[in-house]
Amino acid sequence: MTVKLSFLGGVGTVTGSKFLLDLPGGRRILVDCGLFQGFKQLRLRNWAPFPVEPASIDAVVLTHAHLDHSGYLPLLVRNGFKGPVLCTSATQDLCGILLPDSGHLQERDAEYANRHGFSKHKPALPLYTAADAVAALAQFRPVEFGQEHRIAPGLTLRFLPAGHILGAAIAELVVQGGPRIVFSGDLGRPGSPTMLDPAPIRHADYLLVESTYGDRRHDPRDVEEVLAEIITRTAARGGTVLIPAFAVGRAQTLLFHLHRLKMTRRIPDLPIFLDSPMAVDASEITCRHPEAHRLTQQECHQSCSVARYVRDVEESKALDATPFPKVIISASGMATGGRVLHHLKVFAPDRRNTILFSGFQAGGTRGAAMVAGADSVKIHGHYVPVRAEVANLSMLSAHADAEEVMTWLRGFAVPPRMTFVTHGEPAASDALRHRIEEELGWACRVPEHGETVELA
Ligand code: ZN
Repeated sequence: MTVKLSFLGGVGTVTGSKFLLDLPGGRRILVDCGLFQGFKQLRLRNWAPFPVEPASIDAVVLTHAHLDHSGYLPLLVRNGFKGPVLCTSATQDLCGILLPDSGHLQERDAEYANRHGFSKHKPALPLYTAADAVAALAQFRPVEFGQEHRIAPGLTLRFLPAGHILGAAIAELVVQGGPRIVFSGDLGRPGSPTMLDPAPIRHADYLLVESTYGDRRHDPRDVEEVLAEIITRTAARGGTVLIPAFAVGRAQTLLFHLHRLKMTRRIPDLPIFLDSPMAVDASEITCRHPEAHRLTQQECHQSCSVARYVRDVEESKALDATPFPKVIISASGMATGGRVLHHLKVFAPDRRNTILFSGFQAGGTRGAAMVAGADSVKIHGHYVPVRAEVANLSMLSAHADAEEVMTWLRGFAVPPRMTFVTHGEPAASDALRHRIEEELGWACRVPEHGETVELA
């Protein structure tokens, strides 16, 4: 029995995750359906025709809600995919806000480009619309952690907690009389105060493991100490701390830490604004899914109440006009879009302020450029000087670092027949491959984008 696995995204990059399984009997399963983000040559892949007919795919298995894993779904559905999208109920709820927002952002960017005439394409079109996203959501079917779900005759799916973000799963697919294939999805960090530990896996014939931080260790410093130092220092200069944050996951973790810092008076009593309707919704969804994180209901509600919620656009703009020191958490986390761009235009040119990134910045994003020390970034067609302090809370990462991934791999009772290192920029993936071969003695490789392999 032969199963074919094609790497349609999420190799050589952390974005665009898409793994296609061709199973005996002509069945097709797509694991993750993400958008390419970051470098322009990657983003252009979103516009290329899908490598197989979307109508020929029987089901999509979704490991978690982040757009680099889910954001291509509206297009897949618009182009003919009719099957179920299987994910945990927390992932379903988060996609309910993330996907329509992604459609809105793309409509708005296209409209903005047309209005200001800086697109090379006339007229600029959105990749998909909010209405496409809403249509895709109708195909979601929840499968809870630990439940064995029969996708088709002879094919079973099980989700196990991956940590990472609310609802994030490791997906285990078992082909009857064939291989057991495990997709790590994005692995979280063990011992997180807010998220679940990645579940140990004992056995897989084939394993796909992420390698976002395959060549790095996280900053060992305590996140609350660093946050307290930066906020205190910036406030003393009379500046504002602007935190670009992923609305889903990172914003909630930040609120949790800021709440603890305020309670213990380790930061000055500045106003904190959560300026992202999506982050506000994600905070509420977090409180509704106690099965998917570690916080008590009380901790959940207290963390949410540390910030003033800003839903309204006018209120968001007003934040830029007031001179008093404050903390603004706004999306997107890599400054690729969203309200944070307007705040950056105002706060980045002033030395008193701090732009505090809150995790991994993919190559090609404004976030990566600023963390690397760029003295200006292009926003809406104009160069904005960066004179503010720029820092990154890399220890707040929702991803396991190289050591933590190796520890998770050591939990396997027997080596997989082959381990594919995915979801990493080339240097990171190759560094992890090297460690897996050297330290564990496993058969391991980094696949090529677009490659198909046969799993015996
Ligand atoms: Zn993710």
